[in-house]
Amino acid sequence: MFKNGCVFCDDVVRHHRASIVYEDDYTMAFMDIAPVESGHVLVIPKDHFVNIFDIDSSRFAKVHELSRVLSKAVMKAVGADAINIGQNNGPCANQRVMHYHLHIIPRWCDRHLNWERGEADGDELDSVAGMIRDVFQEFEEELNFQ
Ligand SMILES: [Zn+2]
Repeated sequence: MFKNGCVFCDDVVRHHRASIVYEDDYTMAFMDIAPVESGHVLVIPKDHFVNIFDIDSSRFAKVHELSRVLSKAVMKAVGADAINIGQNNGPCANQRVMHYHLHIIPRWCDRHLNWERGEADGDELDSVAGMIRDVFQEFEEELNFQ
């Protein structure tokens, strides 16, 4: 299910205008273009769901299973100490893109995070995406989509 005018449906799913980390029939993961920290990845269902009030349980499970395994690859690829998982539902909860998405945000013990969105360099995003893709191969067999 594709939604015209949705930036994730149009740019990411249809035209692959993103630094893509992972893709299968149901889900995609790609670098956030306005990261709060280096290695900030978004995980989405390829079909258009607005948020947690809208997504079906099958796609919800796939997105979260992917994020479980992908978090390990992100952590290792960027040498982080920890990971935040974030997921916003509704404009008053800071949901900016109205297509369900989950944030994987690497954290470092000695680095304060102020949650301000940065401006990312496209080449750098492609480079980090490549590093995560390489490391993900070590973990991919852990994926257990039901
Ligand atoms: Zn969409």
